[in-house]
Amino acid sequence: MLRPRTPEEAVAAVLSYGHGARGAIARGLGRAHGDAAQNAGGTVLDLTGLTRIRAVDAVAGLVVCDAGVGLHRLTQALLPLGWCVPVAPATRHVTVGGAVATDVHGANHPAAGSFSRHVVSLDLLTADGQVHTAVPGMPLFDATTGGLGLTGAILSVTLRLLPVETALMRVDTERATGFDDLLARFTAPCHRHRHTVARVDLLARGAATGRAVLVRADHAPYDALPPRVRRTPLALRPGGLPGGLPGSAGVAALLDGLRSRAGRPGTGRPLPLAAFLHPRDGLLRGHGRRGGFVRYEVAVGDGQEEALRRVVGRIAARGRAAGPGVLKRFGEAGPGLLSFPPAGPGWGFAVDLPASSGGLGRFLDELDEEIAAAGGRVRLAEDARLRPGLVAAMYPGLGEFRELRAALDPGAVFVSDLARRLGL
Ligand SMILES: Cc1cc2nc3c(=O)[nH]c(=O)nc-3n(C[C@H](O)[C@H](O)[C@H](O)COP(=O)(O)OP(=O)(O)OC[C@H]3O[C@@H](n4cnc5c(N)ncnc54)[C@H](O)[C@@H]3O)c2cc1C
Repeated sequence: MLRPRTPEEAVAAVLSYGHGARGAIARGLGRAHGDAAQNAGGTVLDLTGLTRIRAVDAVAGLVVCDAGVGLHRLTQALLPLGWCVPVAPATRHVTVGGAVATDVHGANHPAAGSFSRHVVSLDLLTADGQVHTAVPGMPLFDATTGGLGLTGAILSVTLRLLPVETALMRVDTERATGFDDLLARFTAPCHRHRHTVARVDLLARGAATGRAVLVRADHAPYDALPPRVRRTPLALRPGGLPGGLPGSAGVAALLDGLRSRAGRPGTGRPLPLAAFLHPRDGLLRGHGRRGGFVRYEVAVGDGQEEALRRVVGRIAARGRAAGPGVLKRFGEAGPGLLSFPPAGPGWGFAVDLPASSGGLGRFLDELDEEIAAAGGRVRLAEDARLRPGLVAAMYPGLGEFRELRAALDPGAVFVSDLARRLGL
C-alpha cells in the first residue's frame, strides 16, 4: 500500500510500482463493500493523502478538490457558504474520488441523478504516468465515472454544488402496508420531494411482504427553521439539534422501528442534514461497519416490479436479513459505462445478509439469475461474489468499457480483485 501526498508522488508511484505483475488500483476510504478497491499481491494507491480543497467559487457553486478529500470534510467547508454536495451516499465517510469512481447515488436520484452528473471535470492519472483532464461528453469521462478505478487514478475533481438556505431537512414519514402499497406511494404523482427512501421490514411475510417506512425530504428553507436555530441556519449538526430533535441515532431508531411501531407517520419534522442524508453513519458504531455481512444491492428498470417483488419476498422468506432492506427510486441514468443505475427509471434495493448463513452463495446466485432475467443488475462496487458470466448481460456498456480500457492501458496496469474476478 502506497500513500502519495501529492499528484507528483502519485505519478511516481504508478510508474515505479504499478507496472509490476499484479498492477495497481486506487483506493479511497475503503467503504465499497466488495473487492473493488483491493488488489491482492499488487499495489494499492491509498489516495486519502491527497487532501487539498483547492478552490471554492462561492458565487457559482463550484469546488475544485483533490480526490482524497472526504465528503464529510467537504460538507464542513461548504455548508457555511450555503452550498452542499448534490448527491450524498448513506455514509459521508467516502472520498470524492471513490464517489466518482463508483458514481454513488442518493435518495434523490430521480431529481439529481448520480454523483458524476455534477462533475464538471476530473483529472485522471493514467498508466503511462500522464494526467488527462476529462469532461462530460468525452469517452474517457464515461469510462471513468463509475469505472471502479480501472481507467486510472482520479487526482482531482471539479464539482458543481447544490445551493441550500439551511443545514436542515424537512422530513415526512409514512408507512406502507405491503409491496404494492410501497411502490404506489413511491410513484404517487402528488409527491414532489427531492429525496425519498424506504426501509423495508424483511421480517414481514405473506401479504405484508414489502411493509415499509417511507421517508421523503427536502432541504428546509430558512423560514421553516425552528426559531431557536435561526441564528445559525447553516451550522452542521451531525448529532442533532438542541432540544432533543433526533440526530442520526434517532433517525436510525425511527427508520428501524417498523416492528415496534416507532416509525410513526409524521410531517415536516426538521432533521440535521447529515443525520438525514447519512443515516448509516448513525448505525456504524453499533452495527459494525460491515464485518460479517454481505451487502447485496440490485437494480431493475420500470416494468420489472414483479422480479423485484420476488427477490424481496425470497429474502424475507429466508429470514436471515441483518436489518431492513433499503428501496430507492432511480431516474434517468448518467453516461457512466459501468454505473449502477439502470438506463431508464427503475428501482434499487439493498440489504445486508450475514455472511455465515448457510447456503448464502447459492441463494444469491439464484437471485442474480432472477435479476439478470429481468434485465437488472447487481452493483459492482458492492460485490465480491457475482459470477462473471452474468456481467455482460447486466452491463451493456461493458464491451465499450473493455475496448477503451485496452486502448488506454494495454498492460492492464490498473487492475483490482474485482476486475480479475469478473473479467472487466
Ligand atoms: C455504510 C455505507 C453506506 C453506503 N451507502 C451508499 C449509498 O447510499 N449510495 C451509494 O451509491 N453507495 C453507498 N455506499 C458505497 C460507497 O459509498 C461507495 O462505494 C464509495 O465509492 C466508497 O468511497 P471510498 O472513498 O471509500 O472508495 P473505496 O471503497 O476505497 O473504492 C471504491 C472504488 O473506487 C475506486 N477509487 C477510489 N478512489 C479512487 C480514485 N481517487 N481514483 C480512481 N478510483 C478510485 C476504487 O478503485 C474502487 O474501485 C455505502 C457504503 C457504506 C459502507
